[in-house]
Amino acid sequence: MPHHHHPDGPDHVHADEPMLALEAVQRLVLERCQPLETLELPLAESLGAVLAEDVVATEDIPPFPNTAMDGFAVRSGDTAGAPVELEVVGVLPAGSEPPPEPLGPGQALQIMTGAPMPPGADAVAIVERTEPAGEGRVRILDEVTASANIRRAGSDLRSGALALAAGSVLTPAQIGMLASVGKVSAPVFRRPVVGVMSTGDELVQDGAPLRPGQIRDSNRATLLALVRRDGYPAVDLGPVADTRAAVSEALERGRASCDVVLSSGGVSKGEFDFVKVVLDELASRNGGESFELAVAIRPAKPLALAWLPRGDRPGATAFFGLPGNPVSAVVSYHVVALPALRQMAGQEPAVRRTVPAVAGERLSPSRDGRLNLLRTVARIDETGHLVVRSAGGQQSHQLSGLAAANSLTLVPAGDPVEEGERVAVLLLDGLS
Ligand code: AMP
Ligand code: MG
Repeated sequence: MPHHHHPDGPDHVHADEPMLALEAVQRLVLERCQPLETLELPLAESLGAVLAEDVVATEDIPPFPNTAMDGFAVRSGDTAGAPVELEVVGVLPAGSEPPPEPLGPGQALQIMTGAPMPPGADAVAIVERTEPAGEGRVRILDEVTASANIRRAGSDLRSGALALAAGSVLTPAQIGMLASVGKVSAPVFRRPVVGVMSTGDELVQDGAPLRPGQIRDSNRATLLALVRRDGYPAVDLGPVADTRAAVSEALERGRASCDVVLSSGGVSKGEFDFVKVVLDELASRNGGESFELAVAIRPAKPLALAWLPRGDRPGATAFFGLPGNPVSAVVSYHVVALPALRQMAGQEPAVRRTVPAVAGERLSPSRDGRLNLLRTVARIDETGHLVVRSAGGQQSHQLSGLAAANSLTLVPAGDPVEEGERVAVLLLDGLS
C-alpha cells in the first residue's frame, strides 16, 4: 500500500503550490472513515448518539383511553340541557384500574388526569365547569359532547408504528419517546474516542509565567471543548515538544487509545514541524496511509492526515494533523475533522450543510484561489433575514475574531461580496 501521497487530479487548484479543493479533501477523508460498530447504550448515555435501527412501538401509547383533564366522567347524553345534576359513584385517581361496573344513566365518576375512562362513560366534564350539589351529587354546568377531553388509546403512537427512524440524532424528546415505548437502552453507533494534543516548544501550560518567546497553549483547550460539545468522548493527550521522539511517542499513545487523534501545529514547512514526518514514518512502518496536503481554503491550508492500523483490534486510527494557528486549527476541525467524526458516529450528512444568508456589509476575500472561511456574526434581522457581518480580525492567529463569531461565511477567492448579496454560512454556535 502506498504510504505517502501527494494527491493530484481534476480537483486540483493551481497557485504557488498544488492545492486540493476542500470537497476533494472531504471525499478523501470520508472514503477512509466508516461508521463504527453499533451497541446498546443506556438511555441516560444516549443523548446525541445516532440511532442505528428503526424503533417500532410494540404497544399503544397511551395504552388505554384516559382523561385529559381533572373532572367527571359522564355519559355525554346525560348532560343534554345542562346544567344537570348527576350522582357521583366514586373517585378515580391516575394509576387506578377502571371500575368493573359500567357507569349507569344519571351517574358520574370523579376522575383525575391520566386515569382510565370507566366503561360506559364517553366524555369528561372538566372540574372547573362543575359545582357540588349536596352529598354524593355534582352539578354539570355545560353540555359535554361525546369523546370530549378523552385521549384515545394509541392517539400518541399506535402499536406497530415507527417511533423513531434509524439515523435520528437522539434529542431529549426522542430519548423520552424511547422510554415511552419501553426501551431502557438505545441501539446506536459507537461514537469515536477523540484524542487531542498540541505541539510546539513555544507553548506554556496552565497559566505559568511567560518567558520571552513563549505563548500560551490555547488549541488544546479549544479542540477538547469542540470535541466534547459535538458529543464525542475526548482524551487529553497533552502538550508535545517539537522533537521527533516526543511527537512519535504521543502519536503512538493516541493510536493505542483513540479512534481519532487531533494534533495542532507542526504540519507546515518549518524545520521543527515533525507531525507530518512522523505520520509518514508510522504509516510506512505499520502499513497505513499518510497524506500531506495543501487545502485550498483560508485559513487552514496545511494539513497532515494518516490512517494507521490499531494493532490491538480491527480498523485504523485516523490522524488529523491540524495547523497550529488557533483559527486554522478550529476551521480545519469544522470542515475536515468533524465530517469524519460524524461519519464514524453514523450521522448524516457527514459534511454539515451551509445555510443561505445575506451579507450585511462588504466581505473581502483573498485572491489566492482559496475558499475563504470568514469569521462572522450571523443574526436574524427585523425582516427575518439571516444577515452576516465580520466578527473582527480575520487573520489566522486572531482567536478574538473567532471567539466573537458564531459562524463561518464561505466566500470564494476573488471579488468582494457586496452588502445585500447572498452567501453560504456554516453556523457554529447558535444565532445571536
Ligand atoms: P505551527 O503550525 O506549529 O507552525 O504553528 C503556527 C502558529 O500557531 C505559530 O505561531 C504557533 O506559535 C501557533 N500555535 C501553535 N500551536 C498553538 C497552540 N496550541 N496554541 C496557540 N497557538 C499555537
Ligand atoms: Mg509549531
